Amino acid sequence: MTAAPPPALLDVLPLLRCPVCAEPLHAEGFSLRCPAGHSADLARSGAVTLLHGNRPRSGDDDAMARARDRFLATGAYAPLRAAILDLAGAAAEVTGDGPGRTVLDVGCGSGWYSAGLLEAEPGARGIGLDSSPRSLRFAARAHPRLAAIGADVFARLPLASDAIDLVLDVFSPRNPSEFARVLRPQGRLLVARPGPGHLAELREAVPGMLGIDPRKEERLATALEPFVTAVAERTVRFTAELTPEAATDLVAMTPSARHLDPAGAAGHAPGAVTVEVQLGLYAPRA
Ligand SMILES: [Zn+2]
Repeated sequence: MTAAPPPALLDVLPLLRCPVCAEPLHAEGFSLRCPAGHSADLARSGAVTLLHGNRPRSGDDDAMARARDRFLATGAYAPLRAAILDLAGAAAEVTGDGPGRTVLDVGCGSGWYSAGLLEAEPGARGIGLDSSPRSLRFAARAHPRLAAIGADVFARLPLASDAIDLVLDVFSPRNPSEFARVLRPQGRLLVARPGPGHLAELREAVPGMLGIDPRKEERLATALEPFVTAVAERTVRFTAELTPEAATDLVAMTPSARHLDPAGAAGHAPGAVTVEVQLGLYAPRA
């Protein structure tokens, strides 16, 4: 345990807001505090949870978070991260690269996607939001410029308005009105979500794996439409080789894991799967 909040957290502290009263926060020892006296203690990892009320139950549980961390560490999704970085780079041309560009990774999990982005952009700083304590412990050590913040993605985000250059949402819940509020006018939202063919071989081979709702694209468009407008769309498609261990973790990190046994299920898994992900880049409406 260190005596002061980690540099990544201090760096974004001016952008953080009290989850109770939305006033600015300052550091006091190993806590963050607002003028009204609401306070949040840092975890030993350096993560801090800014919640008003109870912890949401939507985040990864311990087993899911560990499986996700192990799976992403294999590099099986490296081409996906590269494509996300490429599109994020296209956004940087608009928002301006260099010192001060701030990336918000919503539902950051272990921080693997944003760590890659921060590595590629030496001037950028990151805020990783997640509701899972285990994921936050991973995120807190994912990159020296990534601050790990516990928050409810569906509530008011504990962030100032007009503060963020890039909101990254990779397979995560979306809160379009809040994304639009925290984005700077020239900022961008990047959403990655599974395409129709995503993990098709796994879904065919493993009984009980959840399918992809064909109406979800329409629902996404309807939810985003009042707040942001699409400026770029891309589909990423590649084949990922799966070891039996990676297959187990891949099943365990999906929502399907809640109602089937990943180790048993992965016994049916193919040696390779199609990864098909749709990327969208959006600008906030004026
Ligand atoms: Zn407060």
